Amino acid sequence: MSTTLETDICILGGGIAGLWLNARLRQLGYSTLLVERGALGGGQSVKSQGIIHGGTKYALNGKLSSAAEAIADMPERWRACLAGTGELDLQGVRVLSEHHYLWSPGSLISNLAGFFASKALRGRVEQIKGKQLPRVFADRAFKGKVYQLAELVVDVPAVVQRLAELAGDSLISDRAPHLLRAADGSIEAVRLQQHQIKAQRYILSAGEGTEALLSDWQQPEPAMQRRPLQMVLVKGPALPPLFAHCLGSSPKPRLTVTTHPCADGQWCWYLGGDLAEQGAGQGPDELISKAKRELQDLLPWVSLEGTRWTTLPVNRAEPAQSGLVRPDTAFVQAVGNALISWPTKLALAPNLADQVIEMLGAQQVTPASRTESTSELPRPKVSAPVWDICFP
Ligand code: FAD
Repeated sequence: MSTTLETDICILGGGIAGLWLNARLRQLGYSTLLVERGALGGGQSVKSQGIIHGGTKYALNGKLSSAAEAIADMPERWRACLAGTGELDLQGVRVLSEHHYLWSPGSLISNLAGFFASKALRGRVEQIKGKQLPRVFADRAFKGKVYQLAELVVDVPAVVQRLAELAGDSLISDRAPHLLRAADGSIEAVRLQQHQIKAQRYILSAGEGTEALLSDWQQPEPAMQRRPLQMVLVKGPALPPLFAHCLGSSPKPRLTVTTHPCADGQWCWYLGGDLAEQGAGQGPDELISKAKRELQDLLPWVSLEGTRWTTLPVNRAEPAQSGLVRPDTAFVQAVGNALISWPTKLALAPNLADQVIEMLGAQQVTPASRTESTSELPRPKVSAPVWDICFP
């Protein structure tokens, strides 16, 4: 028999957006239940590169866009959380690199050098040389320039694990949550296999799955867009750590490399940027050949002997924008008794939570329900890191 669980806020989707928000709301005294249909973080979040952007990537056209402005204080907020002094306690989460870097293989940077040195970017981009260079660039063969960005790279599976701890017993696993529509078009309840959940507000933060939830609820707006990518993974025992965007001839990075620890003690280079955008739809072998040529061209002194290669197709899910342009900030829209959300970037999860909390305040939604015990209900697992499960 189906029993009804009452809560202040029901969150659908346990990626970075849902989990971060859940932890913030619980701190504020709201009772919450978060329903995840797969593994926590298993959508885009654990497939992300973990870069906590400060906006420099969006300034590669020589201008500070509004995206760059909105995201500028995210690295500091994340750093405070990691140090235990921020809005959430993420102490113990591994920081893979205290800095992300930007490198130019040749003269390309010359057009941007003045801009990088300008007042607008002071403290966010700094040229480094000699002993300051990351090990991978400390080779005689390297002729380019390297900039250190005020951005960090976090171990996302560890962030998800920590946020799951902060969730207490608010997490529920259910393969196919269904939104029941009330006569006035609002959400009446969320139906699970054994139970239903009634809440003051429902937050849809299911990433790519939000589109299907909206359609289940017969709610056509807001529309979602997908940006397909195909990431390349290279694993080997001797890959040096590399966390950097490589500047190309367009305002988007030609290649973005992050380095991740694997359970077998090896390291995995995770390759994104233009390579992954252009590579969406290509055959994996073709894309791997292209990635090998890129690395040979850009970092010929790095030995790739004994490495294994694979690819990972994945979509970014975002609110629809004309011309598939990149949205500027986290997105939250109120629709009836729901809030529909996409962070658009992992780094912007704190911004998404701010917006939701502000909207709940404006709608006078305050903590009212007591916390239901969910100890009898199945709890979702945390997703395994992709670099541990993707290699055939
Ligand atoms: P997801 O992480 O996709 O989580 C959604 C969750 O909802 C999933 O767990 C899913 O199983 C669940 N779900 C789906 N449908 C339902 C349903 N019906 N009911 C219940 N649960 C449901 N951003 C950065 O800031 N820095 C980066 O370096 C970066 N790199 C990226 C690299 C790649 C390859 C990609 C794809 C993205 C990257 N991003 C990055 C963007 C970032 O990963 C996403 O913006 C962010 O992870 C989205 O989080 P989310 O919680 O909205 O979605």
